[in-house]
Amino acid sequence: MTHLGAFLQKLPQGAAALITASKNQYYLSGFPFEDGYLLLFADEALLLTDPRYVEAAQKGAGADFTVLCPPKMFETIKERLAAHGVDTLYVEEKNLTLAGREQIENRLPGVTLLAGASAWLGELRVQKDERELAAMATAQSITDAAFSHVLNFIKPGLREIDVALELEFFMRRNGADGVAFQTIAVSGSASSLPHGVPRDCPLEKGFLTMDFGARYGGYCSDMTRTVVLGRADADMKKVYETVLTAQKAALDAAAAGVSCKALDGVARTIIDEAGFAGRFGHSLGHGVGLDIHEAPRLSFGAAETDVLLPGHVVTFEPGIYLPGQYGCRIEDMAAVRADGTLLDFTKSEKELIELPWNC
Ligand code: ZN
Ligand code: ZN
Repeated sequence: MTHLGAFLQKLPQGAAALITASKNQYYLSGFPFEDGYLLLFADEALLLTDPRYVEAAQKGAGADFTVLCPPKMFETIKERLAAHGVDTLYVEEKNLTLAGREQIENRLPGVTLLAGASAWLGELRVQKDERELAAMATAQSITDAAFSHVLNFIKPGLREIDVALELEFFMRRNGADGVAFQTIAVSGSASSLPHGVPRDCPLEKGFLTMDFGARYGGYCSDMTRTVVLGRADADMKKVYETVLTAQKAALDAAAAGVSCKALDGVARTIIDEAGFAGRFGHSLGHGVGLDIHEAPRLSFGAAETDVLLPGHVVTFEPGIYLPGQYGCRIEDMAAVRADGTLLDFTKSEKELIELPWNC
């Protein structure tokens, strides 16, 4: 079934939906655009856009969609609602601002706006189909290739921003639509910042954490590797091995039906018992899809009823961060297969890598 077909099954009879968020518009129509609307009825799907997009939309949108380029969007929306005899419009409660709501209400007098579309789209988007999983596998293979490439690129004298840019250039040159999020490359003492920004200063000896991902076909990938510039001392090795053991244990424990909260606990217990309690400040992982952070969360704060299900794609990214010293994180992205087992998309080496550093 198409994404549109699945969405329409959730739409109550006699109602319509107005989709305004671009990721949701892309999910349902297959066409990426920034300004415009999807207006969905049980028996008619309209994509309303402006002259910049109309030719591409006619080629790119799903066959179920009729592309319109009206001079006055809301006049057309009003006319179509009246033609279908519909006065109930479901909107995306998570995306619509107060100003956006007021605008719609002013332009569509007599139409009742109801929340619901975000919840339905959330339920659909969390469960990736084969085509989406294939896009994410490709995104991750580009990301893995970028890691192999950058290991040969890194040398003394380069700045953190050079490493981040090289990863991004490589991914773009090798088929990515773009980056999935702002690349992190932090070295030495800055590696203790889980979401540090690459600096305009030479790479420091010690840990170098790189967290990056390609976007392919609209879908994100997300991985982290921490390598050592020079040699790791015994304390650094202990930190690295603890994070790696925690990550592998969580990956081994993951399968359909396993609680998201319990998985976080598997990794956290290993880190705590190794003497690093309180040094793993974030959650184990998050869902990935068209958004870099989406449901489900592998978190100590997750509800007891949240479990992994076939079609979920999540990250496993434990870390240990010692303020003023250094930090280390290892992250893979994996999918739950139809048979309930885990498929790790990330193929990059994760045993400790030490790069020669003579400076
Ligand atoms: Zn990441
Ligand atoms: Zn992540």
